[in-house]
Amino acid sequence: MKLLKNKKQERESSDADHRVIGQQLDLFSINEEVGIGLVLLHPKGTIVRKIIRDFWEQEHLKNGYQLVCTPHIARQELWKISGHLDYYEQNMYLFEKGGEPGVVKPMNCPFHIQIYKTKPRSYKDLPIRYAEWGTVYRYERSGTLHGLLRVRGFTQDDAHVFCTPEQISEEIVKILGFTEHVLKRFGFHEYNIYLSTRDPKQPEKYMGSEENWELAQKVLAETLGKRGIAYSEMLGEAVFYGPKIDVNIVDASGREWQCSTIQFDFNLPKRFNITHIGPDGREHEVLMIHRALLGAVERFFAILIEHYRGNFPVWLAPIQVKVLPISGDNIQYAGKVNEKLLAHGIRSEIDNSPATISHKIREAEVQKIPYMVLCGKREMKLNKISVRKHAVGDVGLLTIKVLVIKIKNERG
Ligand SMILES: [Zn+2]
Repeated sequence: MKLLKNKKQERESSDADHRVIGQQLDLFSINEEVGIGLVLLHPKGTIVRKIIRDFWEQEHLKNGYQLVCTPHIARQELWKISGHLDYYEQNMYLFEKGGEPGVVKPMNCPFHIQIYKTKPRSYKDLPIRYAEWGTVYRYERSGTLHGLLRVRGFTQDDAHVFCTPEQISEEIVKILGFTEHVLKRFGFHEYNIYLSTRDPKQPEKYMGSEENWELAQKVLAETLGKRGIAYSEMLGEAVFYGPKIDVNIVDASGREWQCSTIQFDFNLPKRFNITHIGPDGREHEVLMIHRALLGAVERFFAILIEHYRGNFPVWLAPIQVKVLPISGDNIQYAGKVNEKLLAHGIRSEIDNSPATISHKIREAEVQKIPYMVLCGKREMKLNKISVRKHAVGDVGLLTIKVLVIKIKNERG
């Protein structure tokens, strides 16, 4: 009995494994010829990435962020100033070309600071919020790599908020609210919040004075406290430049994942010598918040795949509709239906294979495609389509227009 149960669990867990689903749905691959920890997103994986990104960019623009775009490599000098070469070198890809030492970027922060630095900034301009889907590379030991969950090249949904010390608390509250809004859209409604602080016994791991650390940690704790947000403190889990708040999501299987992070930084602005002009006309300190809502996009994709077990809601599904001609005589009509769906912005695909209709339906079910559209003699005559919904069954005989409206209105 016990053996049976274990076998069942094993099967169930592999059903939910993003690597298994990723292959089954043709979303992505990783191979040794390219290099371990490096992800190849296939067309279907790429379309999901684009949907996530489009939503993310729209929401950022609505919430007062400005989008920026920065290079993948930079001079080593930049990373000396930022302190990454002192605190983070073991994870960085260094190279030399034309006598110039360079780095493949492990983080986007120094670039956003450089954009801030291109002109004097007044207190009236603040807060300034720069956001970027920044692709970074970090060396991780081969034994720690795992599918999309831990990789060496990934894209962070990064943003840096530049603000005055007086604005920091309000900005953190805003980011927490925004995080919740974005994560809810992806079907995550349960979270655990952590405050990661400095370990006073290992001062060599952290940049900056103890006094500034105490102050930063106090601001974060007070902000959470004032809003009545329950959290746990994680001693020694802070990043080298400042303390942070992590929002861990709980997925459909009750597993907890670290995705969103909000990091308070008083160090990098000082190292890059950035300031703002106050109402008194003098230069004052500017503070920085580093934040990512999804974290690493590849990792978030893995979490989404496992959360939904590949049954993406219709707005996220790489293919929303599979058009199935019932016999060879209906291929032309099915082709027209497919073209109309595509023209309405529906992600549609046609199965023109000579297989039987029941086989085509089974195949579309395996591919977890939300809607199937059957096109036969009757449908052709009525200029309609027979609609089936994945894991539900027959929806009925509809016009193309009705199906388009149905798909566009489906939020979940
Ligand atoms: Zn940063």
